[in-house]
Amino acid sequence: MHLMSRRRMLQLTGVSAVSLLTIPAVAREDKDEKKGGYPFELPKLPYEFDALDAAIDAKTMEIHHDRHHKAYVDNLNNALKEMPDLQKLSLTELVTSLSKVPEKSRAAVRNNAGGHLNHSWFWLMMSKDGGGEPSGALGKAIDSSFESFAKFQEAFSKAAMGRFGSGWAWLVAKEGKLTISSSPNQDNPIMKEGSGTPILGLDVWEHAYYLRYQNKRADYVKSWWKVVNWKFVAQLHEGAKS
Ligand code: MN
Repeated sequence: MHLMSRRRMLQLTGVSAVSLLTIPAVAREDKDEKKGGYPFELPKLPYEFDALDAAIDAKTMEIHHDRHHKAYVDNLNNALKEMPDLQKLSLTELVTSLSKVPEKSRAAVRNNAGGHLNHSWFWLMMSKDGGGEPSGALGKAIDSSFESFAKFQEAFSKAAMGRFGSGWAWLVAKEGKLTISSSPNQDNPIMKEGSGTPILGLDVWEHAYYLRYQNKRADYVKSWWKVVNWKFVAQLHEGAKS
């Protein structure tokens, strides 16, 4: 997805000024187009640590956000410390311009910018009022791409289970069609040009579920549906059309 479409997406999907305040990592890059996002900041969680307890326990949320996500932000800032040109880029620009990063720093930028981006969106893709099934245009798009919501859930869960080791499962919107994919490590679909717009992502790193579910990733994935913030996913889907 082109950088501009994400910017336009935020404008066009009616993400309000209030909700933008809860996503400073994303808001910053929109505000500071010329300045770039450096130094990047850890966005506040838009809810309490225990808000997602139907699927994810408070301790996991705290460690995941305060330590894992923070480490991606800190490591990204460290990696960019001596590279003033790259500091001028926004987060989205960074992950879509990895070829501009000197080879010795490329893996660090890829992993940590990807980690920062993925987690900034992941928190927003969940809500204590989440779960259920999407209606409206998103519900229709899911039905037409996967036959039914149940079949979509099955295919997405399969992608999440099939990702060996650490990574993410994705629902991606491209040219009016929805597809499911998965990525290793902290890669995001937008790292590949022309891949479409990710509108839902699921973190399947063990750090996302190990305290409550230990090695049972399938149980985590099954519970996770209870907290999916379809309202936000629908906004991203709507924005992906523009
Ligand atoms: Mn994670």
